[in-house]
Amino acid sequence: MTLPTSRRHFLQLAGVGLAVAGTGLPRAAAAQPAPAAAGPVLLNFNECPYGPAPAAQQAARDSIAGSGRYQFALAGQVRDVFATQNAVPADHVRLYPGSSEPLNRAATLWTGPQSALVVADPTFEALGDLAAARGAQVSKVPLREDGAHDLRAMVAAAHARPTGLIYVCNPNNPTGSISAPAELAWLLANKPASTRVLVDEAYLQYSDQPSLIGQIAQRDDLIVLRTFSKLYGMAGLRLGVAAAHPERLRELSSLGENPLPVPALAAALASLGDAQLVPQRRLQNAQVRQATIAWLGKRGFSCVPSEANCFVVDVQRDGSAFAKAMADNGVVIGRSWPIWPQRVRVTVGTEAEMAAFRRAFAKVAGVPA
Ligand code: PLP
Repeated sequence: MTLPTSRRHFLQLAGVGLAVAGTGLPRAAAAQPAPAAAGPVLLNFNECPYGPAPAAQQAARDSIAGSGRYQFALAGQVRDVFATQNAVPADHVRLYPGSSEPLNRAATLWTGPQSALVVADPTFEALGDLAAARGAQVSKVPLREDGAHDLRAMVAAAHARPTGLIYVCNPNNPTGSISAPAELAWLLANKPASTRVLVDEAYLQYSDQPSLIGQIAQRDDLIVLRTFSKLYGMAGLRLGVAAAHPERLRELSSLGENPLPVPALAAALASLGDAQLVPQRRLQNAQVRQATIAWLGKRGFSCVPSEANCFVVDVQRDGSAFAKAMADNGVVIGRSWPIWPQRVRVTVGTEAEMAAFRRAFAKVAGVPA
């Protein structure tokens, strides 16, 4: 199997990130702006610049001594707290070391040469890349003008050929745009009966949108994914959640067991126990994002409306060249998608990081700072 393009790209870029990590730059210890670091500003992977919450960091450190054990009971505790907080039965929840793993498993199980995948365009590409590599037809349905998924067109595409899976990323990566609850309800009511729907809520906590997770108790064709990688700042610690009917979870786990990293479990438990963390980080992110988008708008650069920790800006010229010029000026931003070659994704960083972004952007675009 050849490695899908965007994964290859990701691994190459990961080299950049690792080099920076290797310099030992301090990560933010608290939900405060990260200390100024010598080195490029990284606004490329939709990571949380504040890192794990202080209590989560402490819990992770405290867990190291006990990490010689698998600590299955701790995993059960995290699952139970998550299930209670989301008002779903515990047997409808399964933890993974990151949400990439259930995404990959979903592609492996439910797509293939006879079983197509329907996705938006642009969207997070991991699932589509793996499905394509496995010989599945991937129908890419362009986002609507307002940035929402065109769910009517996606359902039509699913009816056009045998379709195993519809993928909805809400809020969407790269745009941060939203699909409204009524439209998602329409999708679930009108899709082919045998087609499963995977709703990826990696960025949901940054938005004001309701989760679809409550519906997994009523239907067996919906899988909802969450991750601790984004708002909780635990991308490098690795913990994600698949929530679905127990039969779907059994199918996902039929591809093999993978015990969970103990420090990630400890950090997740502490994060779930901090009632202020989500509202505080959501607000902080929204303020910095809105200020940045307003600054861009005043200079004539439009963005798709976002409710996540990323946005897409139209740079009105080749996006890849623009991103390279930004990197040359010390600010590493995300990439372009083939459907939008003149737009680039930018991760929302701290206020200080976005000030650096504005300085670099003004220089590269030739506009006032
Ligand atoms: N889903 C979406 C929409 C993402 O953007 C990402 C990562 O960027 C993931 C899933 C995978 O995240 P992780 O495996 O760190 O949970």
